[in-house]
Amino acid sequence: MPDVVREDSALSEEESQYQFVALAAQQTFIKDGELVRESAEHHGVQVTEGGLFVPASPGNYNLRLPDGSPAEIKGLRSATRLLVVCEDCRVSGPIAKTVRHDALFANAGGPGQILMTRIRPAVQFTAAVLALNPNISIVWYGHTGICGGANHQTNGRMADFYNPGEDYYVSEMKDSAQMEVYLQTFMNELMEAGFPREQTECHLVHVNEENGISGITTVEF
Ligand SMILES: [Zn+2]
Repeated sequence: MPDVVREDSALSEEESQYQFVALAAQQTFIKDGELVRESAEHHGVQVTEGGLFVPASPGNYNLRLPDGSPAEIKGLRSATRLLVVCEDCRVSGPIAKTVRHDALFANAGGPGQILMTRIRPAVQFTAAVLALNPNISIVWYGHTGICGGANHQTNGRMADFYNPGEDYYVSEMKDSAQMEVYLQTFMNELMEAGFPREQTECHLVHVNEENGISGITTVEF
């Protein structure tokens, strides 16, 4: 028998399932780098791409997606914390630097997903990670200051909260209230899929256009 067949059949049921949903998640989010490339150029930074075990590059946009490889499966089995964050250059680097994690999943929005076509693959991926490693904790970070991912999914609605004639903090308040609803919706989907509440937490990073991160709040769900 050829080696490849033997290796495939050696995969356990949860490993095969993981591989399947990891690739589906990769396909769903693979173009997220293109989504922000123009913005990255505008900020004078880069879009870096890689797998779950490639560290975030400080100051850049960071796209970190699963590939379903045996090495990834092995890494996730021994990981204690998976960090999920928006790829945004103002958020992904600083959060990855300060939040303890073994693996990093970063796409446009992180937990700030609005379309079911994006929520579903992310939730299924999370469930498959849990099947591989029932003790893993997953920490989620969405952000304000106009999340490009959420803005794209709402046809510019997030950017509309920032009215040039309005006090910045009034705009931020509306943006964070809306983002919190998106984050809660996502987390509730996760809970309904059976993810243990005590193994997860969700946070909202407040991004101030002038000063960078101005604070982090916990999202109740
Ligand atoms: Zn974002």
